[in-house]
Parts: sequence; C-alpha cells; structure tokens
Amino acid sequence: MTAPGPRRILIAEDSRSMADFMSRVLEAAGFDLVLARDGQECLDKARTAGPDLVILDLMMPKIHGLDVLKQLRADPPEHMPGVLVCSAKDFKTEVEQARELGAFSFLSKPFSHQELLAEVLGFFTARHPGLPSPHPPPLAAAEVFRPQLSTDLGAFRLWGTRGSIPVSGPGFVRHGGNTSSMEVIYKQHRILFDAGSGIRDLGLSLLSGRPCHLHLFITHTHWDHIQGFPFFAPAFTPGFEITLYAPPNTDKDLESIFRGQLDRAYFPVQMEDMQAQLEFRHLQGTALEIGDFRVSWEYTLHPSPTVGYKVEVGGRSLAYVPDNEFLKGYLGSPTQVGRDSQLLTIHDRLIEFLSGVDLLIHEAQYTNEEYLKKIGWGHTSVSNACALIRHTGARRWVITHHDPVHDDEFLQRKLNLTQQLLADLGCPPEVEHGHDGMVGYL
Ligand SMILES: [Zn+2]
Ligand SMILES: [Zn+2]
Repeated sequence: MTAPGPRRILIAEDSRSMADFMSRVLEAAGFDLVLARDGQECLDKARTAGPDLVILDLMMPKIHGLDVLKQLRADPPEHMPGVLVCSAKDFKTEVEQARELGAFSFLSKPFSHQELLAEVLGFFTARHPGLPSPHPPPLAAAEVFRPQLSTDLGAFRLWGTRGSIPVSGPGFVRHGGNTSSMEVIYKQHRILFDAGSGIRDLGLSLLSGRPCHLHLFITHTHWDHIQGFPFFAPAFTPGFEITLYAPPNTDKDLESIFRGQLDRAYFPVQMEDMQAQLEFRHLQGTALEIGDFRVSWEYTLHPSPTVGYKVEVGGRSLAYVPDNEFLKGYLGSPTQVGRDSQLLTIHDRLIEFLSGVDLLIHEAQYTNEEYLKKIGWGHTSVSNACALIRHTGARRWVITHHDPVHDDEFLQRKLNLTQQLLADLGCPPEVEHGHDGMVGYL
C-alpha cells in the first residue's frame, strides 16, 4: 500500500476529457493524483492508494458511483476518504442520496476550474486547518476569451450626422450635433468622407496613430461639409499627407474654396500654417482605387455640383449620399411611384449606381409637411426617400443629415414613420438613424 499523502486525490471519472481537465487543474495546484476509469477501479484504488479525497463521478461503468460510495462507507471509518461527487445528474434525488451516503459535497457538471478548486481547497482546509492550502494557479491569459472589435470585414464610423449647421443642447444628445463626416475602415486602412464639424473629433482620433496618407472625399463644398477642416488636427501635423477630392465647381477650384475659408477675415490660421502635405483633386472619370478600396461617385440632385460616393471593399459595398433631392416636387404616396414612373427618369443613373449596395447611408431630411415648403432646397422627404430605397433594393439603410430643428424625440417619431412606410411598400430593409459616433459593419 502506498503511503498516504496529505493531499492525494483519486479522480474516478470514465470520461477521458473530463479526467484530463480535472488532472490539469489539480496538478497545477500541487495535488498528487491517482486516476480510475470505472467504479471497480475506483473502489480498488480507494483502498490501496490511500487518497484523502475521491472525486467521484456517478454514471461509471461496472459499479455506479452511488454503489461505490455505499461500499466505501462499509469500510472501517478511519479508511474512508472524503468524497466529492461530481455529476451532471444533479437532481434532488441524487444530491440527497450522495449526501446521505457520506459525500461532503456535490459539484454539478459542467463546472469551471475555479469551482472545482474551491470545492477541493474547501475540503482540505476543513480537514487539515494547519496545512498551508495550495494556492489556485493564476488564470492563464490564454484561458480568457477576449473578443475584440475587428475591422477585417470593413466598418464605417459616422462622426457627424447633422445637416446645415451644428447643434447642441439636451434635445440633441442622442443623435449628436456635428455636421457631416464619416470614415470607412478596412483592416488598418481608412478613407474619409466630408469635413463637416464632425471631422474635428475624427482628426483627434487619428493623432494616436502614426502620420499617414489620408484620402478625404468631399460630396460638395457647402458649409456643412467643409466647415470642420480648419479644425482637422492632422492638417497641422507634419508627416500627414492629405489628398482632398471633390466634384469640380464652376465658380472656384477646390483649393481656393478651402483656402478661402481659412482667409484671415474668418480664421486666425491660414493654409500656409498647415504642416501636412495637402493636395486638392477634382474628381475625374467615375472611380478611383485606393489600396483595397474602390471609390466611385455619381451626381445627386442638390444645388451646386454634388456627388454621392460608393465604397467597395472586401466584397462588400457602402454608399454615402447625404444630400440629394429625390423625386423633386413629388408630394404623393411612394406606392404610386413604380419603376416605370416618369418621375424616376432623372434619377436613373443614381438608382443604377446605388442598386444592390449592402448599406446605403442616405438622407431623409424633411417630413412631407416640411417638404411642401422646402421643395428645391436639395433634400428629400421621408416618403420620397423610402421610394428610393425601394428602387435601389438596398439591404440596410442608415439615415443621416438630420435637420438641425429635429430633436431626438422628433427624430424617433420620424424613424417610426419611416419604418411604417417601408413596410407599406413591402420592402422593409433594416433602417436606423445615424448618430455621431455610430459604428457599423459593412
Ligand atoms: Zn449638407
Ligand atoms: Zn448642400
């Protein structure tokens, strides 16, 4: 007979993986282990190996765990080891029977290694209060499941979702008040869109990384899409290269427009003070490839040259169209606008451009009542935007470019109405309101 050790444990368990798991945990905690694969072997080893503790499975081959317990109990009491029953059969009946037959505790399967150690250490502390109890090993870092947000499939982040002018105050907390700005991220790379006031926070976020070459696509040069650029920190940081793209404007070239808003009359710092390398490009052709990204564009219906962009990356697509007056002047129901409607002919190219995108970020700035008074302002009513969604077949729609007078509560009611209209059209894609800081996946 082996000399009984003070911390010898017999593991009676027919499942090899379970026995391996318990062995790893208890060995690491410094216990001396003996293994048994069935009830008979357990009984034999309990009598010959002199364990202090038996960890006893119930449903074992040859002799059931409760019978093992019964027979151990019939041995002289000084030879009876402590018994911890561990079983998935944790019904009231089995738990009571195990306790009546002398088990000191019952551990339900499955259990964590902390639960197992707590039971075992509890037993030894109670039986040998003078013995230093083995310390549970620290959790190995590799054992902790730590899911991380990944941009490997492509993601977008909205930094500004307000149209016209920034807003603030308690009514705008949920959606935010910055004007248009967005980034699309794929793996470690990003492309930026619009430089409304939201680009200030976007710029600050980029300072934590190394200076790099940024590509900034502007839909058009209205204030709410460029006013954040004087506050875009990378523009003042040596090492950054920034290429700006926008559709050609008949009045002024792109550089003059950006230089103009940095005129001394408007701003204390001029473009010469920006230490990044800036390059201004007018959009030419229909698309550009930048690393893994393919960026294409199409004109929208909005005062002065304005485009919407489509980004294709990693087999997915996103379109960004913050300013577009779809179905200009139409005040009827979207159900009346079939694909062959004359109203759609001026939008044919845009519909084709947006067809089948995975995610469409498009405005729906006005309620129909508001639109009645704002026809020709360059923005779409809720119901006309729903007609556009129907004809593009977009699977997901994020609404942006919220009107500055629409507070959070109003926008929630407007979103509910949008969902109802889409359902009525029989084309309910996922629809939600964009908000500043919103991150989504492509
Ligand atoms: Zn705008
Ligand atoms: Zn505009």
